[in-house]
Amino acid sequence: MRKTEMKYMLGLKMRAFPNHKQKKIIKKNTDASRFVYNQLLANSYTDSAIHRNKLDKKYPIPKYTVRFNRIKKCFIVHQNWRYNKKGTLITKSTKRKTGLDRITADKYPWLGDKDLDSLTAYNAQINYQSAWKTFRQVHDAGVPKFKRKSASKQSYSTNCQYVGLDKKHGEVPNLFNGTVRFLKQNPHGYCHIKLPKLGKIKVYLSKELPKAKEIRIARVTISVHSSGEYYISMLIKSNDPLASLYPKTGSALGYDLNIKNFLIDTNGNEVANPKYYRRMRDKLAKEQRILSRRCRRAKKTKHKLSECKNYQKQKLKVAQLYRRIYRQRNAFLHNLSTALIKNHDLVVGENLKSRNMLKNHALAMSISDVGWRTFIGMLEYKAPLHGKTFVLVNPAYTTQTCYDCKFVMGKKGTKKLTLQMREWDCPNCNAHHIRDYNAAKNILGKGYMALKIPDYEYKFS
Ligand SMILES: [Zn+2]
Repeated sequence: MRKTEMKYMLGLKMRAFPNHKQKKIIKKNTDASRFVYNQLLANSYTDSAIHRNKLDKKYPIPKYTVRFNRIKKCFIVHQNWRYNKKGTLITKSTKRKTGLDRITADKYPWLGDKDLDSLTAYNAQINYQSAWKTFRQVHDAGVPKFKRKSASKQSYSTNCQYVGLDKKHGEVPNLFNGTVRFLKQNPHGYCHIKLPKLGKIKVYLSKELPKAKEIRIARVTISVHSSGEYYISMLIKSNDPLASLYPKTGSALGYDLNIKNFLIDTNGNEVANPKYYRRMRDKLAKEQRILSRRCRRAKKTKHKLSECKNYQKQKLKVAQLYRRIYRQRNAFLHNLSTALIKNHDLVVGENLKSRNMLKNHALAMSISDVGWRTFIGMLEYKAPLHGKTFVLVNPAYTTQTCYDCKFVMGKKGTKKLTLQMREWDCPNCNAHHIRDYNAAKNILGKGYMALKIPDYEYKFS
């Protein structure tokens, strides 16, 4: 079966530990990938319609040209003649080449290096095309940007290919027989995988591999961070479910996100906000002061930064600190989202508009530190993967509404609740509310409404 027809998809990401030689090969490939992407992007501007129209005005295209053909010994009408930049006529067949045809190893000999993966350039082209597609389809996405050599993450992609499978004897593609493959059945913890050009490479698997019979590895991306960490991520596809379903628990949960805690749910549980960035802030500031001091010193003595060993050492240290914060936060979000999906059949959350909230400078650091958007993304993909339901609802009025009588604060001459009011009494029915607990209950109610399940009849099959 072709991989495009396969129903289930899953991403696998693992930390890799390449040796010195493999690191060099990865560097060559990431450089080539970035170069091809940037060249394609640069060409897209010089080949743009505006640029072509200017040329056409300067050197108008004749509708047809009559030329004598010596072989056929007759006059032939040529169409589609064009002028090139210098003003000389060119035929259709010698028209300027576009895309990957223009970025060849003849022009750039180092692209013919034997360590380069044959699919690196092809995948860079796909990235480039999807960047334009995103620009056209997604509001606010912006035009594709050039990739920087100094960016903190560099990567290249290749594909797994299945050649020479013994189809007569029923051999189907799986994780162990492609050009990218695991070298041991049921690997776990530290193990080895094989990659084109890189050979055997050590990786760490934090989870068990899916057990479906036919699995195709599609795209494989090798990335390196400025902190010196290497990762391999692969997209796998199958017609059988790639993850096990969690048992049904018959419980539903709504949660409210707020600044004080990470979240508070309808069972009254509070999850504290870990504030990883805030905790590390002083240490980061100290190390960054040292970094900028070394940068200033290098500029004074007119040394290149790339040649200053102490500066580079410190830069690595800062990158590692940032990476540590990221890893801590990511682990926390993964653990929490998995726990919610495991213990409840229905999870209802609020669709937050982080960008608007980030405009509030007093809250900006807290919000970007907690990573709610990442958390919602995790719930969104984990729920269908494990056979559960996750619903996002509009958070409007969830805080201001009394759960018991549905009275909305701010109406009928009452004042709206401010951020400082953590507890309040309903002026209509005198019920006492804890602000965020009340909001969580309203969010769950909105979730029921969105699914069209009445409160009391709610039962998950
Ligand atoms: Zn009330």
